[in-house]
Formats: sequence, C-alpha cells, structure tokens
Amino acid sequence: MPWCPKCRAEYREGFTECSTCQVPLVDTLPEENEVPEREEFVLPEGMEKPIAVYTAKNRLEAETVCDLLRDHGIAVFDRPAAFRQIQAYSGADARFGVEILVDASQTARARELIEEMNHDLAEQPVDEDELARLAEEQAMEMPEQPMEDNVSFKLLPVVIGVIVVALVLLYFVAN
Ligand SMILES: [Zn+2]
Repeated sequence: MPWCPKCRAEYREGFTECSTCQVPLVDTLPEENEVPEREEFVLPEGMEKPIAVYTAKNRLEAETVCDLLRDHGIAVFDRPAAFRQIQAYSGADARFGVEILVDASQTARARELIEEMNHDLAEQPVDEDELARLAEEQAMEMPEQPMEDNVSFKLLPVVIGVIVVALVLLYFVAN
C-alpha cells in the first residue's frame, strides 16, 4: 500500500502523490523514530551549506569540538540529539564516529581550530621540563650496587656454559 511519508496517510494502489502534501508516496511507511528526510532537516542558523570538517571518535569528542567551534562563533551541529541527524545528513554511520559539520564558508577556520586543539592535547603529556626532572630524580635514586648485580647476572650463563663444556671434556678425557 502506498503511504505519504509526511502526513502518514494511507493511499489506495495507483496513487503516486499525496494530495495534501504534494510529496511522492512511498511503499513502506518509515518507523516513527526514523531520522527525518533530508529536505526536512533544519540547518542551524548561519549554516547554508554544511561541510564535514572533522570526524570525532565519539560523542564526547564531538561535543568538545562543537563547543570549541561555537566559542569561536562558528555555527556547528552542537546538540547531542542532532548527532543522529548529522549522521543521516552526511551519510555517516555511528560506527565510524561523529562527523562535525560547519558551513562551507567556515571550513578553513574550523579545521584550523580543531588542528590546534588536537595539537595542544598531543603536547600535554610531553612536558620536557618534567621529563628532565624525573630523569634526574631517577638517576639520583639509582643505587650503584644493582648495576654490578646486573653485570654478574648477565655473565652467569657464560660461566655455566664454560663449566658444562669443561665437564663434558673431562668426561671424554676420563673415558
Ligand atoms: Zn501527505
């Protein structure tokens, strides 16, 4: 049976367009919770042509990126409820992360900001002063005795090997 995807009215076989909504009828009515059609998707204010500039690994990262862009006055899909719609709009799947979309006019600035953010995050654990201080502390705390123990421990297999060879030679000599 043909259905109107908009007003969900059922039509008799043979009809192709909803007389109320003037939209083409569909064979099966979409689920109630299904993502809205593309033409019904409402773009945020300031966004005319959405372009995906970044794919966040998860919603938390997506929200962080959205907050960052919004702080810099860039219109972006920023409501968690919209992520499902974003995915539908961009054709992306949740398994492949959450795409961040901004207006085509702001893609360069948005990419720049996201890159800066990721750069800062990556740099945080590598604090060279802190590393140098830790290395110094370790060197100070390192007693000398274990170093010597290490050397003799490494030599142990060699010593055992020599003794075994000597014993084997003795065995042959004795016979
Ligand atoms: Zn209709």
